Amino acid sequence: SRQWGRVSAILKETEDQCATPIQKLRQVADAMHVEMHAGLASEGGSKLKMILSYVDNLPTGNEKGLFYALDLGGTNFRVLRVQLGGKEGRVAKQEFTEVSIPPNLMVGTSYELFDYIAAELAKFVATEGDEFQLPVGRQRELGFTFSFPVKQTSISSGSLIKWTKGFNIEDAVGRDVVAELTEAMERQNLDMRVVALVNDTIGTLAGGRYYDPDVAVAVILGTGTNAAYVERANAIPKWHGLLPKSGEMVINMEWGNFRSSHLPVTEYDHALDSESLNPGEQIFEKIISGMYLGDILRRVLLKMAEEAALFGDTVPANLSIPFVLRTPDMSAIHHDTSSDLRIVGSKLKDILGVTTTSLKTRKVVVELCEIVASRGARLSAAGILGILKKLGRDTISSSGTKERTVIAMDGGLFEHYTKFSDCLEKTLKELLGEEVAEHVVIVHANDGSGIGASLLAASHSQYV
Ligand code: ADP
Ligand code: MG
Repeated sequence: SRQWGRVSAILKETEDQCATPIQKLRQVADAMHVEMHAGLASEGGSKLKMILSYVDNLPTGNEKGLFYALDLGGTNFRVLRVQLGGKEGRVAKQEFTEVSIPPNLMVGTSYELFDYIAAELAKFVATEGDEFQLPVGRQRELGFTFSFPVKQTSISSGSLIKWTKGFNIEDAVGRDVVAELTEAMERQNLDMRVVALVNDTIGTLAGGRYYDPDVAVAVILGTGTNAAYVERANAIPKWHGLLPKSGEMVINMEWGNFRSSHLPVTEYDHALDSESLNPGEQIFEKIISGMYLGDILRRVLLKMAEEAALFGDTVPANLSIPFVLRTPDMSAIHHDTSSDLRIVGSKLKDILGVTTTSLKTRKVVVELCEIVASRGARLSAAGILGILKKLGRDTISSSGTKERTVIAMDGGLFEHYTKFSDCLEKTLKELLGEEVAEHVVIVHANDGSGIGASLLAASHSQYV
């Protein structure tokens, strides 16, 4: 039967290994800052790819016309059309549809994946109503949000560096994703041109900027995690091209691949990583993001079940199934405010098949959620502090000017896991101190990436 002493010991050990005291967070922020410099200095200079997005102009509000956006980057993909009305009309009309990606397509061939996407896109285009207006003789244009690491070669082309987040389609690696999509659209007889290739962070930054000119950073916390920010073009030594007129360039950090000896990692993280599709890679992402948090929790529970009979004399068979405990379930468990933790009880029953659990057991599970989620949230805050340091926005400037810095956040984890996002915001304030924190604002840019990609399509249209 249950060995509470052993349960407490594992709990305590996990808590210690996941601890993120403020000094540690500062070390992580400093390491992020250092790696950002290294990644900008030379190609391959850092685990942080610091990819040039070729976006040197963010939306102004003057964008006009009908544009499409396609967002592929995780479990679902979204297709969107907007009618932009310029300064006065703004986003006059928008419609979208969301389609889940069949799991077999995530590990199949490039041809099949893009065929599926183009077919869904063609269906959506066919439902375009009269309220959307394309000038006669013009081709429909699309902003493609593709949220995997891409070596960008222009605003509308780039080759896939590697897959992340459970995707693994070998023949697509190294290929131009815009060419793949374009060919698939041609197979569907869909007359549409991809004019902007971005990822979700760039899209969110663009969408955020459309509504607030002080947006300088975007962070995604969804299935995976990533960040982008606006850099001074002359602070990018590895860039040998022409300097843009604006003097700025948006950098896609690919911060999910960040790693540092300062990161608190546990035996559970090591096991998760080595059993993953991409061992040794995306270490920051595997500690922080929605695809993985639930599975870290599962691994600790499995150990408690095996070594301390947390769920009784038999170990629930489901507990050995990778990813059976999803982050939305973890979030529901963590947010249970009922006195008898009945949501925790029913989740454990539904997911693990444990018919009865004591209040004490349920409390242990909730505590583990707190440990795992707050580590992720606090490390995310440390990452943001690293970016603010790079921008020189982590202190009140010597000239005494109080520039506002807005961080646009998006992703299902940030949006739905309230305890996670609250902890992130609280930690960032703590790291910045009261005075600086007054000038740093976090906003939830709801589906900024979809709107953002269509705005970037507008500003990179073949007709402007
Ligand atoms: P993606 O990152 O796949 O483009 P989203 O930004 O919508 O898509 O994020 C989806 C992810 O967010 C899910 O994979 C899940 O990890 C996380 N998520 C969704 N809902 C919740 C929730 N209620 N609580 C915690 N995490 C959630
Ligand atoms: Mg997304």
